[in-house]
Amino acid sequence: MSDQSLPPGALEALQRPSNAGNRSTVRKLSDFDQGVLAVSVSHHKDLGELTHKFDLLCPRSGCGSVILKAGIGRWVESESVELDITEKSLHPDLQALPAPPATTQWWLVTPNVMDFENIGFTRPVQQDVAAKKLKFLICAECDLGPLGWCEEGGKEFWLACSRVGYR
Ligand SMILES: [Zn+2]
Repeated sequence: MSDQSLPPGALEALQRPSNAGNRSTVRKLSDFDQGVLAVSVSHHKDLGELTHKFDLLCPRSGCGSVILKAGIGRWVESESVELDITEKSLHPDLQALPAPPATTQWWLVTPNVMDFENIGFTRPVQQDVAAKKLKFLICAECDLGPLGWCEEGGKEFWLACSRVGYR
């Protein structure tokens, strides 16, 4: 003989407003077992390329500002860039990137910065005289970063796959 009624508290739980869409649901790449494979789909403009099927967000717990809508950035694996040259210590919501010339994974946005929902930039920094000046990409809401980089005046904007949130 079985009890057909719901367990205590179940009905209340079902009636409670869903938390979906709030800022606590920001996931990082490290939360997905399959990494980039779990967050990517074919790009609608070029099926041979991969894009992110989630909106990309600021990874800071409690911020989660939308940086880039789903389906815009293109997945690229290429040489890592030293993003943390001006930081004394890495923010706990940011993952360390491998040191160049090791490669890392990026979402490349080009050619238009207007494709971003919200993005901020640091002042240009120059790592050595021969190098081009870089600007780092940061959250427009809370300044967390660097989340990626671009060349000063350039048309390519690189977001580190491991440094953004996914929703
Ligand atoms: Zn933020």
